[in-house]
Parts: sequence; structure tokens; C-alpha cells
Amino acid sequence: MFKALNLNDTNSPNAKQVAEAEKVKCLIIGSGPAGFTAAIYAARANLSPVMFEGLQPGGQLTTTTEVENFPGYPKGITGPELMEDLKAQAVRFGTDVRWGIATKVDFSGPIHKVWIDDQKIIESEVVIIATGATAKYLGLDDEKKYAGSGVSACATCDGFFYRGKDIAVVGGGDTAAEEAIYLAGLVNKVYLIVRRNELRASKVMQDRVLHTKNIEVLWEHQTKGLFGDGVVEGAVLWKKKGTPEEEEVRIQIDGFFLAIGHQPNSDFVKAYLDTDEVGYIRTIPGSSKTKVPGVFACGDVQDSIYRQAVTAAGSGCMAAIDAERYLSERHG
Ligand code: NDP
Repeated sequence: MFKALNLNDTNSPNAKQVAEAEKVKCLIIGSGPAGFTAAIYAARANLSPVMFEGLQPGGQLTTTTEVENFPGYPKGITGPELMEDLKAQAVRFGTDVRWGIATKVDFSGPIHKVWIDDQKIIESEVVIIATGATAKYLGLDDEKKYAGSGVSACATCDGFFYRGKDIAVVGGGDTAAEEAIYLAGLVNKVYLIVRRNELRASKVMQDRVLHTKNIEVLWEHQTKGLFGDGVVEGAVLWKKKGTPEEEEVRIQIDGFFLAIGHQPNSDFVKAYLDTDEVGYIRTIPGSSKTKVPGVFACGDVQDSIYRQAVTAAGSGCMAAIDAERYLSERHG
């Protein structure tokens, strides 16, 4: 449970860390397509939104290469450029974009409180949660051991370091396919480690993977561990794990890229909002409303099904409209 700090108690051990509470009309947490679209709509509805960008300003799209399926860009656009455009549009209408991480909340009263970096408190009648999702890891000790020394969950961020080398990508979805194709253009060879005998990725991405000469798909393989002296030098895999044909396979690689999906960033609100078993915030169907009046959720933090930039943007629009209607109903 989150514990509210006592702002009036100057003798409290926490008193030194406590800054003044700031009142805002509309608080948006998170800066992906959902957060920025909510900001554009909220700003144009005179809600003077304040946005906190969080750990990854611009969200997951800033780690994507080409975005070819966002309507309005017939020639495609890079993820970072798309986010810059969305930010510029939100700022143009008066969104106050700040840096800071929402660390805890108190949604028990009509005025919601959100702690930024465990210090500053923002008070707002409406809060829009657009904190997105974060890349998942397999849970191997070796992922921690070699973090920053050969293990990565972002091909666009780290691919450059592996030019001319051999690397592996884990996963069979669109992210894994996209990362494998991107890395294939930089490195010597890409092993795509797929746990089943088929890819989950869309047909067009599957075709691209299978037609890229320096990608080798290792079907029905799972990762047992990594090895190397200080940095990743290889991986130990199980082929057909749990079957009579199970065998151990070793590959020589310098980089190990995870692309196995994402975890919604909802831990900081779980004490007040309902989530599903994975952690996706539950919203009232057909709306962005959570079970707490005045608290809305949009984008990947509440969407386990579509998880697209365009659906995130659409749900951000819904959240701003829901927030605006909530305030009008309360204040006329
Ligand atoms: P997905 O959940 O679609 O795929 C995850 C992949 O990782 C699956 O192949 C899954 O295997 C595999 N996986 C999961 N856990 C493990 C594990 N412990 N060990 C080994 N493999 C594992 O996630 P994505 O991030 O790929 O995609 C999320 C969403 O975003 C999708 O809707 C996708 O279409 C979309 N997307 C769209 C893009 C685009 O259009 N340009 C680009 C990237 C993503 P299994 O199949 O066996 O379950």
C-alpha cells in the first residue's frame, strides 16, 4: 500500500523531502502516442494539461525504426520523428511538458494526488494514465549479469555496437521480426530464437524475416543461459525442450536481444485501480474510465489486445474527452 506523507508535520523524517503540492487542472502521466494525443485534446479543451514524460520520453516508439502503419504518413516515418511531431503539436496548444516519474498515488479523495520522483506532489481532479509498457526479459540470471555487456531489449538503441558481429534476437512476434530485420542490416548474422515452430508476427513481417539471407531462424529453441568473460560471447540453448529429441545447442554471439513482449507500467497505481492478471489497467468497456472517478487510462497500459500506436492515440483522445466531460459534469 502507498502511504501518504504528512505535509503539515515539519518534524516528520520525510519533511525535508516534501515539496509543496501543486494544483493543476489536468495531469497526464506518460508521453507516448496516447499521452500526447490526450494532451492535444485536453489542451484544445482548455484543460491546461501538465504532462510528466517519465523514464522514456516519447515512449516505446522512440526505440522503433520505421513506422509504416500510422495513418497520414504514406512514405512512413521514424518513431522518434513521429513522437517529436506529436510533442510539438501538444506543446503548440499549451501543454506543459515536464520530466519526472510518477512514483505513487493517492486516489482516495475527490482531488487525486500523484507523487513525482517521490517528492513533489501534484493535485488534480483528473488524472490520465498513459504510462505504456516496458520490454519483458526471460528472467535468467545471465540477463542481469550481462546487462549492458551484450544483453539489450532495444535493437535501435544498441544495434550500432554490434556492426559486423553475430547476434541473437529472442521472440517470434512483430517486435522480434522488426528487430531481427533491422539488425540484419547492421550485423554479420542474426539468429532468431523462436520457442515454437511458427512465428506470431504478421504475414508481411514473417516473409521479410524468411527472405533475409543473414537471418537464421532457430525453431523450437529456448535460452538456457549465456556465457562469456565479462561480456556475452555465446548462448546455450535447448532445442525441443521437454521432448525426447531435446538437445543442448551452443551458439557464438556478441549480442543477445530480447523481443518477447511488454509489461504494462501500472505498479504505481495498483493499490487503487483494478488490473488484469498481467497488470493491464481495467477500464469500463467503450471508455477510458477506471473504477476511480476522475482517473482515466489510455494506451498500452490498458490495452492487451491491439497495442498499436494508432489505437493508443485513439484511446488518448477518448481519455481527454472523458476527462473534459467529467469536469463539465462536476462544475457545469
Ligand atoms: P507479442 O506478444 O506479439 O509476441 C511476443 C513473442 O515473444 C511471441 O512470439 C512469444 O512466443 C515470444 N515469447 C514470449 N515469452 C517468451 C519466452 N519466455 N521465451 C521465448 N519466447 C517468448 O509481442 P510483440 O512485442 O512482438 O508485439 C506486441 C504488439 O505490438 C503486437 O500486437 C504486434 O503486432 C505489435 N507490433 C507491431 C509492429 C508494427 O506493426 N510495425 C512492430 C512491433 C509490434 P509465442 O508466439 O510462442 O507466444
